[in-house]
Amino acid sequence: MRLELSRVLQQCRRGVLLDLGLGGEHRMELPGCLLYTRCGTVPHLTHHTLCTLKHLPAVTQITLDSLAEHQEVLEEFQEGVGRFAGLKDTVIFSSLHDSAAPHPPGYSTNKTVSVWGSGGRIELTVAQYMALQKAIRPHWYQSMADGDTRQPNATRKKVCRAVDRTLSHLDECLSLHLKTEELRGTEIFGVVEGGGVLEERVRSARETAKRPVGGFVLDGFHTEAMSQELRGQLVAAVIKELPEDKPRVLLGVGHPDEVLACVEAGIDLFEGFFPFQVTERGCALSFSYTLDPDPESTVFERNGTEVEEIPEHREGENVEIQEQMTRFEINLKDKRYQDDFRPLVVGCGCYCCRNHQRAYLHHLLMTNELLAGVLLMVHNLEHYHGFFCSLRGALESDRLDALKRTVLQGRV
Ligand SMILES: [Zn+2]
Repeated sequence: MRLELSRVLQQCRRGVLLDLGLGGEHRMELPGCLLYTRCGTVPHLTHHTLCTLKHLPAVTQITLDSLAEHQEVLEEFQEGVGRFAGLKDTVIFSSLHDSAAPHPPGYSTNKTVSVWGSGGRIELTVAQYMALQKAIRPHWYQSMADGDTRQPNATRKKVCRAVDRTLSHLDECLSLHLKTEELRGTEIFGVVEGGGVLEERVRSARETAKRPVGGFVLDGFHTEAMSQELRGQLVAAVIKELPEDKPRVLLGVGHPDEVLACVEAGIDLFEGFFPFQVTERGCALSFSYTLDPDPESTVFERNGTEVEEIPEHREGENVEIQEQMTRFEINLKDKRYQDDFRPLVVGCGCYCCRNHQRAYLHHLLMTNELLAGVLLMVHNLEHYHGFFCSLRGALESDRLDALKRTVLQGRV
């Protein structure tokens, strides 16, 4: 794996990862996001529907949360999860937790971490963790880490212990990694922990950078764990300690405004769970990220989507959706879309927007048809991946500020 930077503005990096995959046949543009999967498949989509998307990321993320319980099957199969799940033609990054699924804290010990599958909790020692990676055969994987410090009230002592544990897990993983024939050619990523404590973040980054890792995973910066301001300060401090020639993956951050701030702080790769969360609440991404709007279609777009005001009286499920919703999306379950015959986003080239209307999506959601999830996922992925594409274009043409203004406006 080789990282080539074509443009660096302060901390902001535009570049490409080359020679990826075992045969070195893949490349990944930076900054970028990973393709989100659960149990080795993109939720709602078959390989066929996935292939209708224009901007598919070159790296697919899988998580031990959903795969750990299938270890025996994968061991028996012997050819890794890529072949097993039909994830052809992609680089596979294996991480510990599914950022779109909650997992209860407090289960990390000096020797183990826990993951939660459909069958409940599975506790893993380093040896078991590495046996699992051996069965999965990813191209990249994160080393075992204690990420339990994500709660805002985590004490300094606890944070310090998590950093120590994570470093000791990394050393054990590295030693087993070298002895494992099946993981030859696979890159191991060191994990930076340290919760909200600046000194511990710096210590974790500095120590991890001393190890022979292929890249870095920045853990515990999740949206719910800290403010954007604190995240910005901590990420900037961590980045200073990391070498420039290795990629940095940030976990748990997906909202477009937060992504932009973290790219400015020096992050290269993000998880792709956000469009899935939007799909699950029956919403569609609709924020604007077009830098060179065609004047005519802009007028069209501006008339196309209006900001949703929140009515005073909401009942049942709608209240819950409104609480989770961000300003980057519209709620297709809302009655106002019942007779709205426009596409989700005017000008979007995805399968859903080319063929269907908001009113149809509203109907599918109201009648609990599975097709609603399929169509929303197609659009939301296309929209989100398109946003990253536009972000790279903005970095190349020095127009990140213009993109930020457009995105922060929210819906067009
Ligand atoms: Zn669309």
